[in-house]
Amino acid sequence: MCVGCRGRADRTQLVRVTARCGDTGPVVEIDHRKTQPGRGAWLHPSADCVSAAVRRRAFGSALRVDGLAVDPVGLIASLNSAGDGGQSEEQVAQDMSTP
Ligand SMILES: [Zn+2]
Repeated sequence: MCVGCRGRADRTQLVRVTARCGDTGPVVEIDHRKTQPGRGAWLHPSADCVSAAVRRRAFGSALRVDGLAVDPVGLIASLNSAGDGGQSEEQVAQDMSTP
């Protein structure tokens, strides 16, 4: 389920986000490879869903992290970079092995 619009979607259509310890506290980070350990939240790769999740403070509750900082502009930029040639070679190899 997307934490932004709360719509159901297949995980292949969503991006995973995790909490990471930043310099000033926990921050939301996009897990492009979907392999980071720990609790993750799923989100449509769209600016609308990011801002909806930020408004509803959905990241903090989904990831069970207090005082989680979210940088919507940075997140959206990161989303866009992932869908635009940002795929890792591992991801491509995985796609090829899955019919
Ligand atoms: Zn959504």
